[in-house]
Amino acid sequence: MGRESKIICLGKNYSAHAKETGSSIPEAPILFGKFADCTVANGNPIIYPASAKRIDPEVELAVVIGKTGKNIPIKNAMEYVFGYTIANDITEREMEYSDMKKGQPWFRSKNFDTAMPIGPYIVTKDEIRNPHKLSIGLSVNGKVRQKGNTEDMIFKINYLIYYISQYLTLYPGDIISTGTVSGIAPVKKGDVIECYIEKIGTLKNRIK
Ligand code: MG
Repeated sequence: MGRESKIICLGKNYSAHAKETGSSIPEAPILFGKFADCTVANGNPIIYPASAKRIDPEVELAVVIGKTGKNIPIKNAMEYVFGYTIANDITEREMEYSDMKKGQPWFRSKNFDTAMPIGPYIVTKDEIRNPHKLSIGLSVNGKVRQKGNTEDMIFKINYLIYYISQYLTLYPGDIISTGTVSGIAPVKKGDVIECYIEKIGTLKNRIK
């Protein structure tokens, strides 16, 4: 691979989640980025930022790109998928909302160290015929918080690949994290977060 560099994330890509944040349904995909060096492997700790007031986990289906493409037509888009994994898009929520109020980007709040647990492995696309029919959920200390199905995604994977590749080249190993389902709530030090997606598995990390 070698060139993989990007984690492209979706904001408000499930209507129930858009509603709980007080937002309307987006008319076009809302994109933002996370640096590859905020990733954390399954089982490794999430470090609670010293300055944070509230951090929230967000379970998301992550698409791993398998070949280089630019201006990819929708009808060929799924050929660019290598496989799927689970991402936990952790957010410093108070910072996010206060930055948004000032018209600033969701950047600091999404890119602190260890803000993107990902894994536990990549399931190749031949094993998941329909990525838009998977139950998805998140539990904290064994209690379910988020629960949904990828069928409720507003902008589907083929559209996202088409849309994103109009602006930038996708390379093998790049990741598109397709947005979270409703049920966002804060976590604290010591909590164990489990993100699960049908046919992929469970991504588990403790907060330190
Ligand atoms: Mg998210």
